[in-house]
Amino acid sequence: MQVFKFGGASVKDADSIRNVAHIIKKYKTSELLVVVSALGKTTNALTDVTQHFVDQTGQAFDLLENVKNAHQQILTDLFGMSPHPIFDEIANCFVEIEWILEEEPQDSYDYLHDQIVSTGEMVSSKILAAYCAHTGLPIKWLDARDYIFTDNTYQEAEVDWQKTEEKIRRELPVLLDEQILITQGFIGSTSENFTTTLGREGSDYSAAIFAACLQADDVTIWKDVPGVLNADPKWFNPTELIPELSYTDAIELTYYGATVIHPKTIKPLQNKKIALNVRSFVHPEAPGTLIRTTNNGLLIPSFIFKVNQVFVSIQPRDFSFIVEDNLSHIFNLFHSHRIKINMMHNSAISFCVSIDDTGANVDTLLEELEKRYKVSVEKGLELITIRYFNQETIDRVLVNKKIIRELKDSYTCQLLVKELKVE
Ligand code: ASP
Repeated sequence: MQVFKFGGASVKDADSIRNVAHIIKKYKTSELLVVVSALGKTTNALTDVTQHFVDQTGQAFDLLENVKNAHQQILTDLFGMSPHPIFDEIANCFVEIEWILEEEPQDSYDYLHDQIVSTGEMVSSKILAAYCAHTGLPIKWLDARDYIFTDNTYQEAEVDWQKTEEKIRRELPVLLDEQILITQGFIGSTSENFTTTLGREGSDYSAAIFAACLQADDVTIWKDVPGVLNADPKWFNPTELIPELSYTDAIELTYYGATVIHPKTIKPLQNKKIALNVRSFVHPEAPGTLIRTTNNGLLIPSFIFKVNQVFVSIQPRDFSFIVEDNLSHIFNLFHSHRIKINMMHNSAISFCVSIDDTGANVDTLLEELEKRYKVSVEKGLELITIRYFNQETIDRVLVNKKIIRELKDSYTCQLLVKELKVE
């Protein structure tokens, strides 16, 4: 069996949804489960609704109205004015958000976020399922929350693999015999039936979870790029398509920040030896990138750029050595402020990191660190990671840049750099 995953960009309007239905029809070669994200930028829009609700700015209802109108427009484009039951179904999903907004915000932001934002995937999957069925495909819509079970770490829920696998294996194979299954990415549920989300861009991970539990033959992630490129075209020109990648290279690239696939996606597939295709929904006939166990992977240098970096250097106040005790305290602080370290280095008397400048939580982390250490900070930097580097690739990215810190191992080079002012 196969798993297809369609992200927000692939279902951003009525024409895109028609294109997805066409891809399902044309490229399905066996039993198929489809995982879909929220339409276009709906997740961001619903995150704004949540923030305005929690801050009680009085704008949450208006912002929700915009999201509702955008969905209504797509429904009208797809189904015309005919009285299709999908219109009421979608309206009812949004009513559930309105019930939340009518009360005072009592619960934590993370909890409210998941209850509100998950609606994006609920409505997109219902719309896609209704449209595919309308074109004559045999479709069954599934609520992913009945299959993906998680803990209650809202916004970053951890999957209960045992329970999830048991349920999926028990119920889905027979359904797949008869129909194409369409379900939501990104969401799961706790043992108390509250909705959780798996982290931003988590729909890829959902596809991997279903595929691993069903021992799929392959997974295809349909994207607006031709496959895995050796750099983000936003930062680098010209880019090159990588036709084949090993799981290990794919994991390394996502670890260092390549955004084409969600970082948690590869491991479950690697464990079950399930091939992952990354293909273009714009040119679905093109082969894209194939990720699998291979020794044929081309060693094409890949470049990952992260801007807006903060370099933090931490030293014990008494110039003593940085030892396990300090490190564990420092790591705990990063963890509790939910700050991911993009690059780290330690010497006898200092521990240095590069992190994203995410604003307020970085400032509070720095205040905490300063209570115990001497801390120096440099902002506005760029972190460039090159996988399969050589001197030529390093020289290429260093034009007009000064190196602040450089780390190398056999395959990967990380350069933390500062832009030089050109007179
Ligand atoms: N809709 C969610 C997000 O934008 C999940 C996904 O698209 O993968 O993060």
